[in-house]
Amino acid sequence: MGDQESRTAELARGLGEVRDRLRVACSAAGRSPDEVELLVVTKFFPAEDVVRLIDLGEREFGESREPEAGRKVAQVRAERSEPAVFDMIGRLQRNKAKTVAGWARCVHSLDSERLATALDTAAAAARDDGVRHDPLDVLIQVSLDGDTSRGGVAADDLDPLAQHVASADALRLRGLMCIAPLEGEPERWMHRAATVRAQFLRSHPDAEVLSAGMSGDLDVAVAYGSTCVRVGTAILGERPIVSP
Ligand SMILES: *Cc1c(COP(=O)(O)O)cnc(C)c1O
Repeated sequence: MGDQESRTAELARGLGEVRDRLRVACSAAGRSPDEVELLVVTKFFPAEDVVRLIDLGEREFGESREPEAGRKVAQVRAERSEPAVFDMIGRLQRNKAKTVAGWARCVHSLDSERLATALDTAAAAARDDGVRHDPLDVLIQVSLDGDTSRGGVAADDLDPLAQHVASADALRLRGLMCIAPLEGEPERWMHRAATVRAQFLRSHPDAEVLSAGMSGDLDVAVAYGSTCVRVGTAILGERPIVSP
């Protein structure tokens, strides 16, 4: 087998394993696998890998850094016409809002009113330019341990931010995103995520998405109601180390 084929085989194997884990986790939780989207996180990996994953049937991808992401999306779209979608899952600075609004289906990492305003302006402009047709979906990132220095807002601050998003014409509030802190059991954090979400749904019943779970904790996340797992390493392998 050549390098091309062996990389495709490696990705197919990773995908198969993750799909199996999802099936088992859904079945244990009494949920249908259709309820949980698998977002394949391709950050740090080349456009060629995204193309291979499209050829293997995947359509939903997560990226975390500009301008790497925008360039990769453009390259993939030039090579494949399948309707693949790309979400922005990483921390986002306001000065990147414009480019992200050009390619993202959804931003998972919304954590301030100022970023919401920048994304709204950018999504409206992208719509006027014919670059996008739908509103930009957003998830509010909630900080499960209240340490917002690593992104996200404290649970108590969710409501004002949600109100702000609701008043932004070019944005559509879809739900919440969280990352389990490294300290402590994933079980504890996903339980916390489910509690915060239940509370949030009372005032925002349409915001049903819960983006939670990565390579290490997707099974626990599914048990606690995740509707979208973001999985990189378990499918693509270890990311190359990049110095800061
Ligand atoms: C990189 C990243 C992931 C994927 O993590 P893995 O452990 O490689 O599956 C998920 N979510 C976010 C926000 C990320 O930045």
